[in-house]
Amino acid sequence: MKRDKGLLIVLSGPSGVGKGTVCGALRQHDTHIRYSVSATTRQPRKGEIDGVNYFFKSKEEFQHMIENDQLLEWAQYVDNYYGTPRKYVEETIAAGRDVILEIEVQGALQVKKTFPEGVFIFLMPPSLKELRNRIEGRGTETKDLIDSRMTVAKEEIDLMDKYDYVVENDEVEAAVERIKSIVTAENCKKERLIHLYKELVEE
Ligand code: 5GP
Repeated sequence: MKRDKGLLIVLSGPSGVGKGTVCGALRQHDTHIRYSVSATTRQPRKGEIDGVNYFFKSKEEFQHMIENDQLLEWAQYVDNYYGTPRKYVEETIAAGRDVILEIEVQGALQVKKTFPEGVFIFLMPPSLKELRNRIEGRGTETKDLIDSRMTVAKEEIDLMDKYDYVVENDEVEAAVERIKSIVTAENCKKERLIHLYKELVEE
């Protein structure tokens, strides 16, 4: 299929909705999609590997990345900073490959300002009760942290309207299938292709 630039896909939604799980499952599907690894100042959780799950940075290192314009977007989330390294994303798209960012809502809205042609997908929990269950089930957060994550989650769900697509994460494989369909459809959008077929029409 003809294409010049890759798609910038932003998968966002409240913490605990399962963005990481859905992205992980999408990877298993052997799609052509590349994954952007974020930088963060939060401590690694058990089993997380530097450079695979995140680039783990000190506050000073993160500040340095902001000052040098190395981040496409960044946000403070609960008590830590999270950001998307710019270079990998820009190079991947320029090489004609699709890239997915798994980020929280403030960051997604920043990306929308610089990349309005991106594909913005909001991953939705089936209910707030289910969302709380999932965060508690992770067993990595204290009660206070869970409460603040739930407060942020409600504010985030309010911003659903700013996205192109809403995918309910009722079941991981079903959510993955919906995302794959969205990516296929977006890659066939007339607006992204019409200039590539000009010569054919003019022949
Ligand atoms: P966690 O600490 O659970 O890994 O992530 C907390 C939140 O930060 C999640 O909603 C996650 O999607 C988001 N996040 C991860 N990486 C980035 C990033 O690069 N930028 C932004 N804005 N949010 C991110």
